[in-house]
Amino acid sequence: MSARNRIYPVFIPHLGCPHACVFCNQHEITGAAEEEALGQLNSLSENPPQGAAYELAFYGGSFTAIPVEQQLRYLEAAGRARDCGAVSSVRLSTRPDAITPEILERLKQYGVETVELGAQSMRDTVLRASGRGHSAEDVRRASAMIREAGLSLVLQMMTGLPGDDDDGAVDTARQLIALKPDAVRIYPTVIVRGTELERRWRRGDYREHTVEDAVRVCALLLPLFEAAGIPVIRLGLNPTDELSGGAALAGAYHPALGELVRSRVLRNRAERQLAQMHCNGEYVTILVPEKKLSQMLGQKRCNAAWLKERFHLAALEICPDPEIADLVIEKDPYGALIEELWSHYPPKT
Ligand code: SF4
Repeated sequence: MSARNRIYPVFIPHLGCPHACVFCNQHEITGAAEEEALGQLNSLSENPPQGAAYELAFYGGSFTAIPVEQQLRYLEAAGRARDCGAVSSVRLSTRPDAITPEILERLKQYGVETVELGAQSMRDTVLRASGRGHSAEDVRRASAMIREAGLSLVLQMMTGLPGDDDDGAVDTARQLIALKPDAVRIYPTVIVRGTELERRWRRGDYREHTVEDAVRVCALLLPLFEAAGIPVIRLGLNPTDELSGGAALAGAYHPALGELVRSRVLRNRAERQLAQMHCNGEYVTILVPEKKLSQMLGQKRCNAAWLKERFHLAALEICPDPEIADLVIEKDPYGALIEELWSHYPPKT
């Protein structure tokens, strides 16, 4: 793991956020208080880690929307951790409407290098229905300011918010790509206990964004970002004891969501190629780079079974090939011949 990837997360409390996003219950997710977060930072300075320094990440709230004095207490504690070598750089997440050139100047003075913006959607109807309290234009404006300030920009988007659909998610991804972020995170909606979304869901006013919904739509988004050279550094909420212990009531909560999505991307690609090659009823071999074999097969070989049924394949082999860098699909010209021979000359047992 590189030093840049060695993240030390500090969850800041919800204080100061005047909004009530329908999916958010910061207490359920973070539960941290200011003293607790500052205590974490102070002990980091007192006991610097062995090995490479951490990248300190303030998550869990809208950092630049909390009172300035409180921001300064966090930033000064982060500065001490930097001074003693425990921390190499600082990143934080915030809202698009809590960014100004002055705010960014202050962050830079305290060594912040990366700002993550919770864009969530680039459709104003979705943002309104989700109680976000900012517009898509706020995302564009804040992104431009962060880039102009010379800071790294990470954009976060969600799928499955009220009023959104697959087209809306693809449209959001395209608009985020146009903002040239250094990376993105995708968070399919989870219904967390105690949120407005839970109440809507229980009333029947919101349809759950299932794991399958999330896998389907994220398998459209991931190739878009990758084709644009933008890394997707997170797919799905980080599993936590609270969420796994019952706070995640429904929705797209799955500890291996990223793997499921990458597996679906490969299935989609194989499906397209098999259709283009008119493989219905054929004997087919799919060669995959060794490290992608399990993704191509899918959990419990579900991709293999799905492709076989979808194209009524006579046989489907999925084999690793150390020589190739990408999928290679071959119709097996000998498969039918061997089958025919066997029908005339069945193997002796
Ligand atoms: S802006 Fe962020 S912290 Fe505030 S309610 Fe929305 S998601 Fe939660």
